[in-house]
Amino acid sequence: MSAAPRPGQPQPPATCDLAVVGGGIVGLAVARELIHRSPRASVCIVERESDLAAHQTSHSSGVIHAGIYYRPGSLKARLCVQGARELFAYCGERGIPNERCGKVLLATEISELSRLEELERRGKSNGVCGLRRIDTAGLAQIEPHARAIAALHSPGTGIVDFRTVARAYAEDVLAGGGTIATGSEVSEVRLGRRALRLVHRHGATEASHAIFCAGAWSDRLAVAAGATPDPRIVPFRGTFLRLKPERRHLVRALIYPVPDPSLPFLGLHLTRHIDGEVSIGPTALIAPGRNAYRLREWRPRDALETLAWPGTWRMLRHWWPTGLGELRRAGLRSAFVRAAARYVPELRVSDVEPAFAGVRAQALARDGRLLDDFMFSYTERALHVRNAPSPAASASLAIARHVVGQAGQAFGLEHLQARG
Ligand SMILES: Cc1cc2nc3c(=O)[nH]c(=O)nc-3n(C[C@H](O)[C@H](O)[C@H](O)COP(=O)(O)OP(=O)(O)OC[C@H]3O[C@@H](n4cnc5c(N)ncnc54)[C@H](O)[C@@H]3O)c2cc1C
Repeated sequence: MSAAPRPGQPQPPATCDLAVVGGGIVGLAVARELIHRSPRASVCIVERESDLAAHQTSHSSGVIHAGIYYRPGSLKARLCVQGARELFAYCGERGIPNERCGKVLLATEISELSRLEELERRGKSNGVCGLRRIDTAGLAQIEPHARAIAALHSPGTGIVDFRTVARAYAEDVLAGGGTIATGSEVSEVRLGRRALRLVHRHGATEASHAIFCAGAWSDRLAVAAGATPDPRIVPFRGTFLRLKPERRHLVRALIYPVPDPSLPFLGLHLTRHIDGEVSIGPTALIAPGRNAYRLREWRPRDALETLAWPGTWRMLRHWWPTGLGELRRAGLRSAFVRAAARYVPELRVSDVEPAFAGVRAQALARDGRLLDDFMFSYTERALHVRNAPSPAASASLAIARHVVGQAGQAFGLEHLQARG
């Protein structure tokens, strides 16, 4: 892949037909889809950072999820299965390195067996290809260093670098005549008679319609455009360790636990990345900043907003024991490694070193529910992507088709609605 394309125009235009706010993988996929369906419209992406895909998209596990976990009938189930299929095809067409390396889901205790069964049922009903139960001999062939009392194998799960995928989407946007303006944080949204006015540090862009794909800042922009503050985005930091190169042989592909179905997180997993590195993580701890990647980093406004949200306290009342466990793993490397050694018993503290951290943008309802499914909402002339956590990177092409179709209906723009 070539380096990230430089934006065609460093400053956002004064006017455009369709604006996309946020240049992560979802915003880029949406812009690409808008251009595809409406080649004559002027499409512009406005991004706050100086680089594209600087937040969740470039701090992920890099797994192309097959669609196992999600409630049948949910948007996550449908869009993940479709999106993963399309993403593999897209990577093939664009020569983006990827691998269908497969993944195992491991139950290590009897209490997890019914949940493993439920995952198998969900995966099959979602249409995940090749998902099957394997016995300990089967597991030993796939992951010789892993241990479990029961396991599922998903041969269609894969790996890719989502930053590379995002760069390719950006190239498509530029090739289709779209504009990408980085370093242009949208600070205000004003509704005029004929357009939406997006205020940024270069002035303002008048857009006939806009789609907001702002990740960790999506609630703030939705409220600025007149939407309800419910749900609020609460950032969850996830830290990762990595295996030292001489111990990478302990993990051939992807080793995942059976997650708690009442949480939208997949649990601590061992992940081979497309560059050969093997990471272990992530933890899941509320972060005092929407881009607080380091432990001592915090943003007063973000922290106050999280603390002032009634849902935060309702969630903590319910989940504090889980939170304490996460805190221990985040603070104590031995506890972190012990949690991973449930699945790979040979793992030792001396096998790992610190790796990266990511911040998940997770929507939290006023009543304390962590929203599980993707969520979109509308204001005059705008559609807002309000919850797009994992597997949104895997599902990005399908999310873009869904979002653009919905926006077409909401905006009364027929040419955006249908595509074969
Ligand atoms: C630790 C971790 C592991 C993950 N692992 C996986 C995985 O293996 N597989 C998978 O499918 N998904 C995974 N995910 C989820 C996935 O990364 C996200 O769902 C996906 O990247 C969301 O894309 P996005 O474009 O919505 O958000 P982002 O990538 O966060 O992009 C949002 C963009 O909006 C911009 N923006 C915000 N505010 C403004 C503003 N006011 N003006 C202009 N621009 C603005 C931001 O700068 C940013 O570039 C993981 C996430 C994390 C954090």
